[in-house]
Amino acid sequence: MEKPKLSEGEILVRVASSGVCHSDIHLLRSELLPVQEGFILGHEVSGWVEEIGPGVTNPYGLAPGDPVVVSWILPCGKCRYCATGRENYCAVSYSRMPGIIGVNGGHADYLSVPEVGVIPLRKGVDVHLAAPISCAYGTAYSALKSADASPSQSIVIIGTGGVGSSAVQLASAMGMYPIVAVDVVANKLEKVKGLGASHVVSASTGDASSLIKEVLPEGADVVYETKPNPDLQLAQDVVSRAGTIVVTGLGSQGSSFNVPTNLFVNKGLRIVGNLGYRPRVDIPELVTMVASGRLDPSRLVTHQYEPERIAEAYSNLEKGLHLRAIVNWN
Ligand SMILES: [Zn+2]
Ligand SMILES: [Zn+2]
Repeated sequence: MEKPKLSEGEILVRVASSGVCHSDIHLLRSELLPVQEGFILGHEVSGWVEEIGPGVTNPYGLAPGDPVVVSWILPCGKCRYCATGRENYCAVSYSRMPGIIGVNGGHADYLSVPEVGVIPLRKGVDVHLAAPISCAYGTAYSALKSADASPSQSIVIIGTGGVGSSAVQLASAMGMYPIVAVDVVANKLEKVKGLGASHVVSASTGDASSLIKEVLPEGADVVYETKPNPDLQLAQDVVSRAGTIVVTGLGSQGSSFNVPTNLFVNKGLRIVGNLGYRPRVDIPELVTMVASGRLDPSRLVTHQYEPERIAEAYSNLEKGLHLRAIVNWN
């Protein structure tokens, strides 16, 4: 592949790895937005700085060869969302997300991105395994913050794909307990026990709601619905009084869910949504957690593929074989 040309303010990154994320399947089917012919997907990316473009201010002092992670949220830093600490809702970033819209992604040897999306790794972090920081870990971490999750709270995590498994690891690192993981795929549930789930519930073999209530008779303080096409049925059943449901799974265009109005008053239910993460705040925190060993991506990344096998990676994702898979480009 030819190296992409750098525009003003951009950094060229040689891709180490790119994650295989369920959102790509929505994109491939044009369920979120029409994807243009020839557009390169891959929004969960790690690699090395290859070249610093013209006009880059370079606040981190990056130099060629430095290991980095690439954010798919590129905040402008100037709009009112950026200015008030909510840069994941930056008005400008909605039209330029690497691998999602407007900017080619990292399913390639190289990608060029505005410098705000390029964040350094630290010593001791394996650059290939760092890719999930920029989607699965980032999303799960930001969602837990949005839910005001704290140590000693209980949590139910519905879905153990990349984001759900990341949430299990993060909840465990934060000291939450019990951590109940729910899925329909038995082998994924086996694996998330090793990530810190104190209990696992198979939604395919029984009534998940009563199985969860055996562990948490009053329900969970936080219920994290990570499934694509969330329905919130189970979440409503198992959230405690004054509890919070947090949602990050994308639905198909126009999908919705039903929640009885009185739950908000009588039970004090909060439902919060979350898009991505705040790259300049959350990514350095996650990088530090990985560098210090509190978060171990080698347990999350269960599959690694060569670029020639990328189609197989997506088909295995749909079969539920991975916690997180990455494609190694360099
Ligand atoms: Zn993703
Ligand atoms: Zn902005």
